Amino acid sequence: MSGHRPNEPPHGYVLIGAALLHQRVRELGAQIAADYAEKRPILVGVLRGVVVFLADLLKATDGLPCEVDFMAISSYGSGSGVVRIEKDLETSIEGRHVILVEDIVDTGLTLRFILRNLEARRPASLVVCTLLDKQAHRLVPLPIRYTGFAIGDRFVVGYGLDEKQRYRNLPDIWVIDETADRSAG
Ligand code: 5GP
Repeated sequence: MSGHRPNEPPHGYVLIGAALLHQRVRELGAQIAADYAEKRPILVGVLRGVVVFLADLLKATDGLPCEVDFMAISSYGSGSGVVRIEKDLETSIEGRHVILVEDIVDTGLTLRFILRNLEARRPASLVVCTLLDKQAHRLVPLPIRYTGFAIGDRFVVGYGLDEKQRYRNLPDIWVIDETADRSAG
């Protein structure tokens, strides 16, 4: 317990530190800037967990003419794949190059719903960039073009990701030890 600051998970540990995160995000941004050099893509962020990653990724595409828009969704129960759009895009993506930016993909059911929805709007291209990929849980194949880190079957928080709205402002990605008694925290 000792040594943890008030906003850190009491039974957690750092999985990916801020320096490594920033290095990888800079690489992803440079790759996107190179791949879309002649285009003007729209980066679509899925709220809310993506905001920290998307902000850093945007800065890393420095020099690339691009736009940003957001969607917000709510899921009914983990793994159900039943998703409702709470906030839609303000931009028409018809004929546009779209990069869907996600914080984490687990089963992939949420992402599949969003991709199908966006595909129906006839973008010129549609690819996925996710910071974290929990491949072990994947139920549906997905066209993920850019991945920050593949991680194991652990519940993670920080760098935008939450547990019940907590921990989003941690600069590192932490694993919450689910075997520990969380009520103690
Ligand atoms: P999927 O539909 O791919 O199973 O679920 C994806 C969503 O579940 C993510 O957008 C995220 O909201 C949530 N999620 C999955 N794994 C984690 C995790 O380890 N930490 C957090 N904070 N959210 C997660």
